[in-house]
Amino acid sequence: MDFELSEDQRAIQQAARDFTNTEMAPHAAQWDAESIFPKEVFGKGGELGFCGLYAAEDAGGLALPRLDATLVFEEMSRVDPSTAAFFTIHNMAAWMVSLWASPAVKAHWGPLLSSGRKLASYCLTEPGAGSDAASLKTRARRDGDHYVINGAKAFISGAGSTDALVVMARTGGDGAKGISAFVVPADTPGIAYARKEDKMGWRSQPTGGISFDDVRVPADHRLGEEGEGFKFAMKGLDGGRINIAACSVGAAQGALDAARAYMGERRQFGRKIGDFQALQFKLADMQIQLTAARQMVRLAASRLDAGHRDATTYCAMAKAFATDAGFCIINDALQLHGGYGYIREYPIERLLRDARVHQILEGTNEIMRVLVSRALLKTNEEIR
Ligand SMILES: Cc1cc2nc3c(=O)[nH]c(=O)nc-3n(C[C@H](O)[C@H](O)[C@H](O)COP(=O)(O)OP(=O)(O)OC[C@H]3O[C@@H](n4cnc5c(N)ncnc54)[C@H](O)[C@@H]3O)c2cc1C
Repeated sequence: MDFELSEDQRAIQQAARDFTNTEMAPHAAQWDAESIFPKEVFGKGGELGFCGLYAAEDAGGLALPRLDATLVFEEMSRVDPSTAAFFTIHNMAAWMVSLWASPAVKAHWGPLLSSGRKLASYCLTEPGAGSDAASLKTRARRDGDHYVINGAKAFISGAGSTDALVVMARTGGDGAKGISAFVVPADTPGIAYARKEDKMGWRSQPTGGISFDDVRVPADHRLGEEGEGFKFAMKGLDGGRINIAACSVGAAQGALDAARAYMGERRQFGRKIGDFQALQFKLADMQIQLTAARQMVRLAASRLDAGHRDATTYCAMAKAFATDAGFCIINDALQLHGGYGYIREYPIERLLRDARVHQILEGTNEIMRVLVSRALLKTNEEIR
């Protein structure tokens, strides 16, 4: 067992750090304040491979292990979890296309998505189907060599600003096995975008509803076979959960760094606040939680890379733990800043607002606990 990052992994981490410092850090606060979706940043990140980190090589991706991808998302999130999180969602969609699209669709969309020249959204959630995603109602009816899609999606990241939609829609009966997945060009006639949600965080990326009214897509835009869509969506989310967990680890690291620096500067009662043992212990607890969260994320990523039997459970455990711990760490960092933590001049309140949603999306942390307990009770076997 080797807990050290390899030389290559350190190089990826450094490349992500440099990119973040030059391309994201100077603008993150403005993107948040003005709700600017920085499309050009995804193009620049794409030139470094950050838009197809684990997408297949024959689709223009880097085909890196998931663990390596987490290093990139973690670095970006130290500064800007919102923009970093859109990189993760795009990577998830690009990976799905690279693996399961037909040869023609993969040849067209693969390189465009992996390079960040075009962006993708992942469209699973519906107004009436959130945690119970397998109950989705959007329907894709076969019509000769096309499918005709009708229905509505909710809370879609990037909606209205992306180029390709990976859409889960029902082609068969009720339940997970009746669902198929499609790559739908985002400007196909019949697609309409609802107004953007006005959100607490993740303000550098749009989130919104999408409706499909007799949207015709060629049959070869289906991913894999009919009925495989929900399985693909869940496989995408295994990696997506690690990625979001890595964003929480990164945001927590950013907050902890800021708190540590502040404790060395701020003086009260004639001393640095870092001299108070109560605060030293808080900082220690933050570091303990952060180290545990990071190791869980990396363990889950390596389990997924290895195709481990319990990989899905590890991804769920890492997502729940790291996003819960990450939020608490950032909240503690805000407390250590006193009133200054609450104002926009300092980045802590933005990190807190951005990280909060990580406990909700890509499966809520309650659903993560459903997955873990189901694995424990259904198989009655040890998780190892
Ligand atoms: C900013 C943002 C971006 C998003 N981006 C995307 C995206 O790009 N693509 C996409 O498809 N979706 C996206 N989502 C949707 C997200 O995945 C859902 O919001 C999430 O899965 C929860 O669904 P819901 O909001 O309908 O909540 P509900 O499912 O209605 O849950 C309400 C509450 O009940 C709890 N609950 C539900 N069922 C159970 C149960 N069985 N046991 C215990 N507790 C339960 C939940 O944990 C939650 O606390 C996004 C959401 C947000 C907020």
